[in-house]
Amino acid sequence: MSKRRQFLSLASAALVGSMMLGGCMGTPPDKGGGAADTSAPSATADKGLETKTINLGFVPILEAAPLVVAVEKGYFAKHGLDVNLTKQASWPAARDNVVLGSKGGGIDGGQWQLPMPQMISEGAITDGKKVPMYILAMLMSQGNGIAASNNIKGANLTVDLKKSAGFFSDFSKKEGRKFRAAYTFPKANQDIWIRYWLAAGGIDPDKEVELLTVPSTETLQGMRNGTMEAFSTGDPWPSRIVKDDIGYLPAITAQIWKSHPEEYLAVRADWVDKNPKATIALIKGLIEAQQWMDKAENRSEVAKILSSRKWYNTPVAVLEESIKGQYLIGADRKPETDPAMGPLYWDSDRGVISYPYKSLTLWFLVESLRWKFYPGTVDTIAQAKAINDKVTREDLWIQAAKELGLPAAQIPTSSSRGKETFFDGVVYDPENPQAYLDSQKIKK
Ligand code: CA
Repeated sequence: MSKRRQFLSLASAALVGSMMLGGCMGTPPDKGGGAADTSAPSATADKGLETKTINLGFVPILEAAPLVVAVEKGYFAKHGLDVNLTKQASWPAARDNVVLGSKGGGIDGGQWQLPMPQMISEGAITDGKKVPMYILAMLMSQGNGIAASNNIKGANLTVDLKKSAGFFSDFSKKEGRKFRAAYTFPKANQDIWIRYWLAAGGIDPDKEVELLTVPSTETLQGMRNGTMEAFSTGDPWPSRIVKDDIGYLPAITAQIWKSHPEEYLAVRADWVDKNPKATIALIKGLIEAQQWMDKAENRSEVAKILSSRKWYNTPVAVLEESIKGQYLIGADRKPETDPAMGPLYWDSDRGVISYPYKSLTLWFLVESLRWKFYPGTVDTIAQAKAINDKVTREDLWIQAAKELGLPAAQIPTSSSRGKETFFDGVVYDPENPQAYLDSQKIKK
């Protein structure tokens, strides 16, 4: 089977999976959509843009919420843009659709795990076909978790796996196979989080566990069936595992790295270059949605909007808890009540979330070097920087922020957020990525 055919069959399997899942959830069909009783989007304003429409893709996890909110609350329309936001069956489907572009019946861009936009630009994950893309903004920080099956509840795994020394080798001996951990797309965010977690605990992810790809919509069923013992994805999926008593949350990503970069808005470069005014309108709408939904008093309404069949098709209660950062952590289900540990869309203790700092988008390529994800494309820090500088467009975000009249304090003046510290004490200094790589004991 060709790679392309494999992707298509994967995508359709994911679609069937999510439809079945939708059926199991007991969610009644939503009649008017989640926005029925929220403020209706205003008609798209005429702002003299080069185009009035853009097709964007999303995956139903909290990272996509600002895009959904900007559509439903009329923030894109206010700036003259009609955004067609369509659900993607899986990350490979999103990737294939952006290669097609709108002209080919696909999408112009949307929500991405990193370094997908960088690697699509380089042709590293698209069978060599280079489709240059631009990263325009960060959609969300935190809001992701690592879930583990109730079958290994007794192991009481936590963020610090050094406390569970011997568990993974004992598991292999007892079960006659390696511990299985899943992510939603290889060599991107979720793979990186699960690897960071394991390696920080002294577990070599390439030797001591089996890593596999499972679309986020299939993680629930997969864990129930014993396809894997752990998985990493965006909420509400890890929280659903807890809610449905299929598993528990050993760790949330906010514990691994506070205010960490998560997923991003990225669009095909040919679309951006052809439609510069519309691009700024897109960023403006996103920024305003992120500002609105970041406020605690608006989070219940966000959950309501997302829950509709059209968007996440997930019970409001599950979404409300995860969007407010109300987690039950660990095998003993300890309540986490600090909203600062939940999904962040605008404010953080490290400043504005939305701004696409090159120091943060670069980190995903530095991790790619650590695990030798993309040989021939990312083999040196110099290559990583060159690719990242082309793809990350801080300048467009700044233009949008200035046109919106944001206070100067909310418009970063540097490409670096400064030094970043992980839960295991490791420091990533963007000025010296090699020192970070050297400090990692487990790498490929
Ligand atoms: Ca994610």
